[in-house]
Amino acid sequence: MKKVNSRRAFIKTTGQAGLAAGIGLTVLPQFGFAHSNNSFANYFQQPLPYSYNALEPFIDAMTMEIHYTKHAATYTKNLNDACVAEKVDMHNTSLENLLHQISAYSTKMRNNAGGHYNHEFFWQCMKAGSSTKPTGKLASMIDGSFGSLDTFKTAFTDAGKNRFGSGWVWLVLTAENKLAIGSTPNQDNPLMDISELKGKPLLGLDVWEHAYYLKYQNKRPDYMNNWWNTVNWDFVATQLK
Ligand code: MN
Repeated sequence: MKKVNSRRAFIKTTGQAGLAAGIGLTVLPQFGFAHSNNSFANYFQQPLPYSYNALEPFIDAMTMEIHYTKHAATYTKNLNDACVAEKVDMHNTSLENLLHQISAYSTKMRNNAGGHYNHEFFWQCMKAGSSTKPTGKLASMIDGSFGSLDTFKTAFTDAGKNRFGSGWVWLVLTAENKLAIGSTPNQDNPLMDISELKGKPLLGLDVWEHAYYLKYQNKRPDYMNNWWNTVNWDFVATQLK
C-alpha cells in the first residue's frame, strides 16, 4: 500500500517532467522523490516551470537555484517529517485542508506546511519572458477594487515594505468574493485558520531576505519593484476561476 503510493507519486512527477520536456521547457533536477526513505511522504516539489536564469535580470539564477533546491526543498522535507511524526494521513489530507486546520498541529508543521505551499505557489506566480498585464475579469476587478493597476501595485508593494522581518505579501479573493491585499509573517498564509488575512491566494510574493539578498542586499523595495516584471498574470487569472 505504502509502496504503491510512493510509486504513484514518482510516476506523477516523472510524467510532468516528460510533459515539460515535450513542450520544450528546461527540466530541472527532480525533488519529487527526494524522500524515498519515507514511504509516507506525499508532498513533493513540482519541477520549476522555467530555468534558474529565466527571470534575469530581475531575479538572478543563483538566488533561484538556492531558493528552490535548498530553502524550498527543506520546507518540503520537514513537512513530510512533521506529517509522519504527527500522524497526518497524507493520502487523505490535501495540503489546503491541512492548512485550514493548522492550529491543531505543531509550530514545525505550521512553518513547513506554509513554507511548502507558499513556495510551490510562488514559482507559478512568475514566468519567463516579459510580463503582460491583467486582462478580462481580473483586470476589471483590480480596477474596481483599487482604482488602477498602478495603485494596486503600490498598495501591494507597500504591504511588503511594511512587513517587519520575514513574510509574504498576498492578493487574495475573500469569502465575500472581493479582492484584498495583505501580508503574513514567517511562512503563514491566508489559508491557515490562525491567519488574520484570510482568502484564496491569487498572487503571492516572498519577502524573506533569502528571496533577494544576493542581488539586492537590504533593498527590498527594489526587489519588489523589479519583481512585477516577472508576474504571470495568466496564472493569477486562473486562480480566480
Ligand atoms: Mn522563500
